Amino acid sequence: MHPQRLSSTVLGLCAALVLAGCGGADDSRGGTEVPVPAEPVVTPVVGSVMFAPTPFAGSDGSNHLVYEVSLTNYLRTPVTITGVEVFDADTEGSPALIGLDQAGVAGRLKPAGAPSVQPRPGAPDGYSEVLAPGQNGVLFLHLRFAGGAPKKLIHEISVRADEAPPEMRETTERIAAVDVNDGVVPVLGPPLAGEHYIAADACCDAVRHTRALLPLDGTPVLAQRYAVDWEQAGPDGKIFVGDARDPAGYRIFGDDALAVADGTVVASRNDLPEQVPGEYPANLPIADADGNNLVLDIGDGFYVNYAHMQPGSVRFKPGDRVRRGEVIGKVGNSGNSVAPHLHVHVMNGPSFLVSQGVPSVTDLFTITGRVADTAAFDASEGTGVPLVLAPDVAVATQEDRMILDQNIVTFRAG
Ligand SMILES: [Zn+2]
Repeated sequence: MHPQRLSSTVLGLCAALVLAGCGGADDSRGGTEVPVPAEPVVTPVVGSVMFAPTPFAGSDGSNHLVYEVSLTNYLRTPVTITGVEVFDADTEGSPALIGLDQAGVAGRLKPAGAPSVQPRPGAPDGYSEVLAPGQNGVLFLHLRFAGGAPKKLIHEISVRADEAPPEMRETTERIAAVDVNDGVVPVLGPPLAGEHYIAADACCDAVRHTRALLPLDGTPVLAQRYAVDWEQAGPDGKIFVGDARDPAGYRIFGDDALAVADGTVVASRNDLPEQVPGEYPANLPIADADGNNLVLDIGDGFYVNYAHMQPGSVRFKPGDRVRRGEVIGKVGNSGNSVAPHLHVHVMNGPSFLVSQGVPSVTDLFTITGRVADTAAFDASEGTGVPLVLAPDVAVATQEDRMILDQNIVTFRAG
């Protein structure tokens, strides 16, 4: 190692190494043999999984893991994450579960603040595979399995640092080991009853929910990790008819929002006005973001949040008991909403903001179609054109699975 060079390269690290001796194990005293720990390796990037994921069954027939890896560049020069592979940490030598090349990383790594370089074409807004000196970024990952999920994951990242000393320019690190959560996944009833409901911005790669990480109360939290924005289309494939600025023209407006499980209300609001569709309200306090909402404690540490309901329609107050299938309010357009819809997410705490989103499944639903992609959904919601659908989606009744992004479903009451 080159302590002098490293001291100008790695933030504050060499001082600690020098104090510790920076050398190998001292074996000059003889005696009983003890295991010798591996030599530490200076790594330009450090990382950890932010919240251990729980596997769940999706409506595509696969099992899924959705989680985030926090990465921080400890160099005084920029780094580029040129690749990421995820392995089953319990099976030495097994093939990677997923592999991302540099472009793949660019589509999933969101530097804190803003990217320091011009993002690569095609990457989502604010994403980049480059971390500036000292910069943190969050890598949003989604793994899919035909069978069961591994019990423990480890990540291998390839790092390029062109301006660093030669020994740091190309490195591979194994980081961010995590035990997969083997906790239960709640099985819930439908949040609505009827046909042609669209699971918009749903799991597992929806930028607007799955990646809505917020720094709150000193902690990064992602309450909306598995949120769904429920919309509805008519037989004509349209989300709204008539004036786009009239909430009543939207198919879902005024539909009954249903309790997905028995529970106790821990929070609700009923006083926020309906917004005009087509634009997000300006200067809305974060506490008002979910509009007229209701949070239901369904037991076992799970909470369900319903957002954006009509003013005056929310039927329950904190402390009230609610039975599965009961009407809790009417779908509206209050709070931070651009069009009438029912936002629903399940989380591990009573705060709809300062909680972690956790997966759930719906006990019974029928898939009748799928919107082609988020752009097709946005076009229909924004302009009133009929939804463009994915071809050849078979009608399928499913049980105990998470309804994934852009699926169109029928829910029976009950
Ligand atoms: Zn939402």
